[in-house]
Amino acid sequence: MKKSIALVCSIIASSSVFSADSVHWSYSGSEGPKHWAELSSDNFSCTGKNQSPINLTGFIESDLAPIEFSYMDGGNEIINNGHTIQVNYEQGSYINIDGISFDLLQFHMHAPSENHINGKSYPLEAHFVHADSSGNLAVVAVMFEEGVGNVELKRVWKMMPKHVGGKTVVDKVSADALLPTQRDYYRFNGSLTTPPCSEGVRWLVMKEPMTASKQQIDTFKNVLHEPNNRPLQPKNARPILQ
Ligand SMILES: [Zn+2]
Repeated sequence: MKKSIALVCSIIASSSVFSADSVHWSYSGSEGPKHWAELSSDNFSCTGKNQSPINLTGFIESDLAPIEFSYMDGGNEIINNGHTIQVNYEQGSYINIDGISFDLLQFHMHAPSENHINGKSYPLEAHFVHADSSGNLAVVAVMFEEGVGNVELKRVWKMMPKHVGGKTVVDKVSADALLPTQRDYYRFNGSLTTPPCSEGVRWLVMKEPMTASKQQIDTFKNVLHEPNNRPLQPKNARPILQ
């Protein structure tokens, strides 16, 4: 219990702004993914056996219950934390899975995608991060292909802070608008894909991709200056359910 609360605190700390007390890390070089575990003793999980992202393949047929989404248009803050662009949510949006309610905390993006599906990488992947009352995490992932522009993304991109540490207060960003209509999904156990790489995260990856325009994908890449995807991690003994 204590550990899971610490976990959420660290996710909130790393997600709010570039805080001075968090250990610096990056996606390349001496502070890149291969070195995350060495950067801080808090990052011991980065060498664990249930790490994310993975290549989703070898699916096991399973009777997965639908995820019950109950999202309000509650995105009220867009931040640039130097690792991603993130939309923070006010309370009131949640999903229900395994009979447990997980509150939506924030969503953010990776380009290119972190997870692969059957060996396929996507230009963009959205992560919707949720936590239950004990601090257990559930991440809903949505892949984006290049195609028709996404209307809500257009709104968010217009207001996103271009500089690290920047924050824009916004009104009612919709998370629903970034979800596919068809909500079949893959499920596996994984981790945070950024330090401290904490495990025990329920991963729920939507099968149906969304689309974003080339311009929308490029705008995100330009703001971040470098790809923000952690390399694929070994699947090890984990089953991937569908
Ligand atoms: Zn992410």
